Amino acid sequence: MPEVLEAPLVVEFPFTRSLGPVQSAFLTGLRDRVVLGVRTGDGRVLVPPVEYDPVTAEEIGDGGLVEVAPTGTVTTWAWNHAPRRGQPLSTPFAWALVRLDGADTALLHALDAPGPDAVHTGMRVRVRWAEERSGAITDIACFEPYEGEPAEPTGHSGEFADPVTGIVAPARLDYTYSPGRAQSAYLHALAGRRMVGERCPSCRKVYVPPRGACPTCGVATAEQVEVGPRGTVTTFCIVNIKAKNLDIEVPYVYAHIALDGADLALHGRIAGIPYDQVRMGLRVEAVWTEGARHPDHYRPSGEPDADYETYKELL
Ligand SMILES: [Zn+2]
Repeated sequence: MPEVLEAPLVVEFPFTRSLGPVQSAFLTGLRDRVVLGVRTGDGRVLVPPVEYDPVTAEEIGDGGLVEVAPTGTVTTWAWNHAPRRGQPLSTPFAWALVRLDGADTALLHALDAPGPDAVHTGMRVRVRWAEERSGAITDIACFEPYEGEPAEPTGHSGEFADPVTGIVAPARLDYTYSPGRAQSAYLHALAGRRMVGERCPSCRKVYVPPRGACPTCGVATAEQVEVGPRGTVTTFCIVNIKAKNLDIEVPYVYAHIALDGADLALHGRIAGIPYDQVRMGLRVEAVWTEGARHPDHYRPSGEPDADYETYKELL
């Protein structure tokens, strides 16, 4: 039995979006400690606001903005006993849907409470504002229990002199990956500078990297087949955006490569040739750097280009 491989993986990118008039007013309102919703054609008030009526699909626009109170009622909730990095509170809290006074729909946010016994549907809560606010949903630090009367709206018109027009929301997936039997064998072979796929016993296709089963036939694959280390570029793209934590100058080429003997293209970076000379049919070979457990990139092998007929089924 080979050792079971495991690696920590992080997928992280900033997601930038423009807001449009309704979301702009909503988030700018939070910055100024005002909660805005929209009124739909049938008179209901939606918080958080939307740009289009969810029933009629008619545009609502910023003409439908209406202020609601920063106090409200919990309509449902779930206890989060182990907060994760980036969540609104670092101590255990409730995720709650809160219908603010004056609204007909509920807003999802954190509710700070000493424990799940202190939370119930129907309990009264109010907004706890963040000390520093920038025009984001986190301007509401959380909700907190509240015993008093419904708060009065301030009478805000929903118009702002310096509205927030965009947000950057960081997206992050942080997980542990274990590749399983087939891919572990593939990775062990790569560390020894061999490329090994698996053949389907039914359709005879060779999958590289192997996944342990044929996705077409639905049967397990076990027969190991050595492929490569040369192959053919079947299709490619030129990357012009520099990735954080990746020490590669742009532009560079990322390609689908059909290794010799494989019936599925894998992807890899192409180097050793100007980016604008990479082409379909280009013959390449894997390059391992000193001590590497997998190929760093692929470079031209010097062979004549492959005929389209030889790889057209692998695009
Ligand atoms: Zn098959």
